[in-house]
Amino acid sequence: MKMHKNQEIELFIHDLHSNGFGVGKYDSQAVFVEGALTGDHIKAKIIKVKKQYAYGKIMELITPSSHRLSECDSGICNVAKRCGGCQFQHLEYSAQLEFKEKLVRDALIRIGKCENPPLSPIIGMDNPYNYRNKAQFPVQAGNIIGLYAPRSHRLVPVTNCNIQHHACEKILKAIEQILSTHPIPIYDEEPHKGLLRHIMIRVGFNTGDIMVVPVLNGDTLPHKEVWIESLKAICPSMTIVLNKNTAKTNVILGASFTTIYGSGYIYEEIGHIRYRISPQAFFQVNPAQTLALYDAVSAHLADGEKVIDAYSGIGGIALYIANKVKKVVGVESVQEAVADGVYNAVLNDITNAGFLCGQAEDLVPELLTKKFDQELSREANYDVIILDPPRKGCDSKLPDAIAATNIPKIIYVSCDPATMSRDVHVFTENGYKLQHVQPVDMFPMTGHVECVCLLLKERL
Ligand code: SAH
Repeated sequence: MKMHKNQEIELFIHDLHSNGFGVGKYDSQAVFVEGALTGDHIKAKIIKVKKQYAYGKIMELITPSSHRLSECDSGICNVAKRCGGCQFQHLEYSAQLEFKEKLVRDALIRIGKCENPPLSPIIGMDNPYNYRNKAQFPVQAGNIIGLYAPRSHRLVPVTNCNIQHHACEKILKAIEQILSTHPIPIYDEEPHKGLLRHIMIRVGFNTGDIMVVPVLNGDTLPHKEVWIESLKAICPSMTIVLNKNTAKTNVILGASFTTIYGSGYIYEEIGHIRYRISPQAFFQVNPAQTLALYDAVSAHLADGEKVIDAYSGIGGIALYIANKVKKVVGVESVQEAVADGVYNAVLNDITNAGFLCGQAEDLVPELLTKKFDQELSREANYDVIILDPPRKGCDSKLPDAIAATNIPKIIYVSCDPATMSRDVHVFTENGYKLQHVQPVDMFPMTGHVECVCLLLKERL
């Protein structure tokens, strides 16, 4: 029998998706329920019916999952239900870790066609809160700073986000105060009018540096002296950088940055390396787990190896592993990140790491087939390629091109098990064996998970 809208049904939740939806079955049809957890027995109201499945919402928790945290449990965020940032604040941390391991295993089996993925236990955090070093908060009329509700542009006021560094709350409260005493026009999406759109904050956990980036639909920040005075009182090594974004777009940052206070950069230390980070450059969001991630990559490398680090960002992995290998060449498409990489090599007295700017899908095959650069080609014959692409994975032609060169070792670092499994499958179809997979919980309280895969060429 077909379900209908507003129908109330009882459901046992037997599975969970990374987007935070629990899955139950009603009359052999799947029902997806936001916020429901595996093991919950619920009363749900059907809110949308599709051909093969339906969406419901929780009306009553008849018997909650044994892993469900109640709202008064310590640590749990009081806006988690309304804010779209976290999907799993209400799931016990040990169960989050178990869930993420399963997510990775299932993706490798289903998409990667790998029968028995060689997974090590996921590396979790001792304290899975206040781990993030980067925050982007929209601002809306009434000087409200917050985060969007799921799948919407409805702002949920939040200044005390419990996955962000503690400094974030102080900064946002100070900005609320500045806006109330020295108001400026707040950006409104629909008419595309107003000035202040977002506040981006970056924090160096191991250096104490803080960067605040007001994103403006314009060039100048009125009352900038008040902003500077108020924010520098929070942290001695503060920098304030204006970002200009006058486009009608959901993309948060525009292309131009102007430093109005401090150095215009933050520094961060991961293990033995110190990094300078530009406002627009990618850097891993969880410094404690970045150390675990980079160690997991480093564990697969040996003395004397020549390495390409594709999608190298500001040189995060390349510089971390430089003392372990003979040489490493980073390939990265964002010019400023490449400049940070070059600068960071000097900063750390590293002489065997270089960086090239360009698309990995263009440069990597050229490097591997020795056609690219006279100077580099003398030292070609790479032993290892590290790939750390964005969530969408590698450009489709890159894995084939890499496999065709028979490079002996591939280390694939990924924040998306699905695209990782897709790309891993191309390698395993082309003579590589998946030797090891190390999941790392880079993003506690959310459905995301990071992995390091080791692939070795089996037959030449
Ligand atoms: N390995 C780095 C960064 C990984 S994030 C670290 O650990 O910090 C992915 C990086 O790939 C980003 O810096 C992004 O700018 C870059 N990027 C995205 N698409 C690219 C492409 N097609 N070619 C090269 N770099 C790309």
